[in-house]
Amino acid sequence: MTETPQSRAARLAHLRRDELAKGDPVPLPLTMASMYHLPGDPTGFNQYGRFFNPTWSAVEKLLGHLEEATALAFPSGMAAISAVFFALLKSGDRILLPSDGYYTTRVLADRFLKSMGIAIDTRPTSSFLDGGFESYRLVFVETPSNPGLDICDIAAVAGAAHAAGALVVADNTTMTPYGQRPLDLGADIVVAADTKAPNGHSDVLFGHVTSRNPEIVSAVADWRKLSGAIPGPFEAWLVHRGLETLEVRFDRMCNSAEVIVQRLKDHPAIDAVRFPGLPDDPSHNLARMQMDRFGFLIGLTLESEQAAESFINKCALIQPATSFGGVHSSAERRARWGDAVAPGYVRLSVGCEPAEELWRAMQEALA
Ligand SMILES: *Cc1c(COP(=O)(O)O)cnc(C)c1O
Repeated sequence: MTETPQSRAARLAHLRRDELAKGDPVPLPLTMASMYHLPGDPTGFNQYGRFFNPTWSAVEKLLGHLEEATALAFPSGMAAISAVFFALLKSGDRILLPSDGYYTTRVLADRFLKSMGIAIDTRPTSSFLDGGFESYRLVFVETPSNPGLDICDIAAVAGAAHAAGALVVADNTTMTPYGQRPLDLGADIVVAADTKAPNGHSDVLFGHVTSRNPEIVSAVADWRKLSGAIPGPFEAWLVHRGLETLEVRFDRMCNSAEVIVQRLKDHPAIDAVRFPGLPDDPSHNLARMQMDRFGFLIGLTLESEQAAESFINKCALIQPATSFGGVHSSAERRARWGDAVAPGYVRLSVGCEPAEELWRAMQEALA
């Protein structure tokens, strides 16, 4: 059977069905446990809450289904990224990061990997292939990059990086598995913040690592077990619930973004728009090749910091907030965190509000 995003979405809500005995609850029970009943030989049984939890396993099953890989759950996106770095890198290694990706990934590498003797280089996402990948142990891509929404060719990076002997990690947070599947394009590892659209209700931090390589999975699982970077069962339960509606929310968010971006582009108060779905966007051709959807994030440049702040704060249907991917639309001026973008650059996360209502509110705020 060839799976499509639709067939994966359809089966997702029924994955538990095979495990159910007559009379079992259909929804996932929340299991809070540090201790498991364990007389005698512990081999092959649930042993301890740092090693195993059935509620994490249920989320991992959904994430693994969506990416056709083994998934490991973490308490945040950064915990997932840290696990990959600390489980797989050693002194003397050299790694390549995007210079325009999620800021905290670079800070983590700079503050903690460097002092362990790991060399770090950075490169812009839009020219990530330039210079090749000779001498790298690990190459990390984030596409579309947050916040600039530039794209790199994952299959081309994976081909060249593998030829040079490097592992390829893709941060897929901005797309989710319904928008892009980097493992299909040759990446060895996907990391993502389920804090964003997968949970979708802005009430939980969560992350995951997926891979189809059993050695990588085993190293990252050992890291989690030994370091104790484990997710809470309740958070896992909430993410499980979120994942059951991800396809519906993501579809609505991407559709609305496609409608609204066309109108923003023509609005006199907007100087520039970045969205991979616009035919004249520098990312468009690559986006069509490697993404299933164009996403729900829009980059907007207004003429000044003041104009951008006024748009964000006046719009009744936009939450002025950092982070993205929630059911409510949200936006922020990324320069307030020091990202290398124009002072009037706004990262807009289109939520699940009906598109025409959202557009009306935006028009009022821009007037
Ligand atoms: C938010 C984010 C992260 C970090 O996730 P947390 O859950 O906040 O730790 C990593 N990468 C990208 C691209 C993100 O947007």
